[in-house]
Amino acid sequence: MKKFCYIRFYDRLKSISNKERCIFYFNGKPAIIDIVESLGVPHTEVYLILKNQTIVSIYDWVYPGDFISVFPRMHTFFFDLYKQVLLDPAYPKKIKKEFWNRYQNYRIRQFVADVHLGKLVKYLRFLGIDVLYNPSWDDDELIEISVSNKRILLTQDKGILKNKRVQHGFYIIHRDPEKQLEEFLNYFQIDFKPFTRCSLCNDLLIPITKQDLDNFPIEIPESIKQSYSEFCYCKSCYKVYWEGSHYERLSNFFNKIFGNTT
Ligand SMILES: [Zn+2]
Repeated sequence: MKKFCYIRFYDRLKSISNKERCIFYFNGKPAIIDIVESLGVPHTEVYLILKNQTIVSIYDWVYPGDFISVFPRMHTFFFDLYKQVLLDPAYPKKIKKEFWNRYQNYRIRQFVADVHLGKLVKYLRFLGIDVLYNPSWDDDELIEISVSNKRILLTQDKGILKNKRVQHGFYIIHRDPEKQLEEFLNYFQIDFKPFTRCSLCNDLLIPITKQDLDNFPIEIPESIKQSYSEFCYCKSCYKVYWEGSHYERLSNFFNKIFGNTT
């Protein structure tokens, strides 16, 4: 008789795997994470696994008839649960190690994005969020930057997130950049400071007076200087920013996303 187990995905994992419940047939003795990844959900998306209603490691074996529930990152609830598990002597070390890694993920505020997410990167930088991006980086370079700099890898490539070296990743479901931004903000719920970071190179912006602009290495048209009162510049690439039409358009866009109609 064929061996099988029951798998149920919750919340955004339903969209990532394109299924909510399924019966999974298997040979031998697979680990839970192998089954979960074969159903299209990378390990970086998995924040809690229950096997027959008990918290288990993602590497736990699967036996015929097991009920496996797979949860994504959730905010307050998991944060508290992780703290409980980490302090509870009843849980084995391997579960605590996994929980500690996931707990650490909640504290990471820096990102690196793959080549397909250029527009999202601009939006995030406009919000002041630190995102490294270079369209020429290949998968190995992205992984290296994510691992060595402890940056969450943003990507639409499930394959790269299934690489065992990647510990901090986020799979972007949506194709439309505005939807991607909403998806990002809903997931990470991090504080941001709009218009403090250069959209071109990711470095921080510094305020500059009109007088100092006169001696600036890059010339700003006189009409712009006359029309606007506040300016800032990027301390790496020297791009100058002011509250022009682009600023207004983005402010309106962010207000739309955050539901602020004032
Ligand atoms: Zn710059």
